[in-house]
Amino acid sequence: MPELPEVETIRRGLLCLENKTLRKVIVRRKDLRWPISPELSKLKDRCLYKIERRAKYLLLHVEGGTILVHLGMSGRFFFAEGLSLQKHDHVDFIFDQHVLRFRDPRRFGAVLFTKDHLHHPLLKNLGPEPLGEDFLFEDLQRAAAKSKRAIKLWLMDANVIAGIGNIYANEILFLAKISPLRAPNSLSTSELKKVFSYTREVLQKAVDMGGTTLKDFVNSQGEAGYFQQTLHVYGNAGKPCPKCRKTLLEIKLAGRSTVYCSTCQV
Ligand code: ZN
Repeated sequence: MPELPEVETIRRGLLCLENKTLRKVIVRRKDLRWPISPELSKLKDRCLYKIERRAKYLLLHVEGGTILVHLGMSGRFFFAEGLSLQKHDHVDFIFDQHVLRFRDPRRFGAVLFTKDHLHHPLLKNLGPEPLGEDFLFEDLQRAAAKSKRAIKLWLMDANVIAGIGNIYANEILFLAKISPLRAPNSLSTSELKKVFSYTREVLQKAVDMGGTTLKDFVNSQGEAGYFQQTLHVYGNAGKPCPKCRKTLLEIKLAGRSTVYCSTCQV
C-alpha cells in the first residue's frame, strides 16, 4: 500500500503536468471505494495549475476545483501514452502530450472532485503534515497527554498526524524504542521527543529515497514495485532484531501487522 513517501514521490513525478491543460477525463468504471465524482467526466480544457499532497491524498488543482485522488491499497498512477488498455485501468486524464492513467485492481482507491478542498470531509480534520512546518512537538505532546490508546494506533490516526501508515509506524516505534502497545500519555517528554524526531527522520529519508527511483514509479506500465528500502522491523517478524538479535514478535493491532522487539522496545 502506498504510504506518504510513495505518494509524495508520485506527486513529484507528476509535476511535469503542472500548467498543462487537462483536455478531458475518461471514466471507465465508477465504483471505486466511493463512486467517482460525476463532475469529472464533464471537465474539459481546464488548466491543471498545481499538484499538492495532503496526507496520502493527491490534490490536482484545476480551474474551478480540485481532483482528489487516493491510491487505496493497489492504485497506481502512470503515464500511459502508447500503452494498451488493461482490465483495471479505470480513469484516464488526457493532456496534449500525456495520458495519465489510474489503475486500481482492488478498487479501494478514490477519484473525487471538489470545489472546496479545504472543507472536504476527507481533508478538513486531518492533523499536521509530519514533514511540514506546522508539525510541532508541543502540539504532539498536548495530543499525547489526552490519549490512552496503543501508541501505534495513535500515530496512525490521521487526525493526530496526517499520513503515517502501518509500515512507518512500526519503524518509527522501533527506532524510538517504544512498545507499540504503550499509551501515549505514559510517555516521558524525552520518549515522545524521540517519537517526534524519528517520525520526521524516517519519512524524510523515505521521501529522499523515493526521488532516486522516480522513473520506475510513474513511467512504467504500473507494474514496477514501490521502492524497497531497508526496513528494521516491518515484514521481519520471526527474524532477529537488528539491534539485540532477539526474535521480532508480531501481533495484530486493529487488524494490522505490528512487528516489534520486546527487549528493545519498552
Ligand atoms: Zn531488540
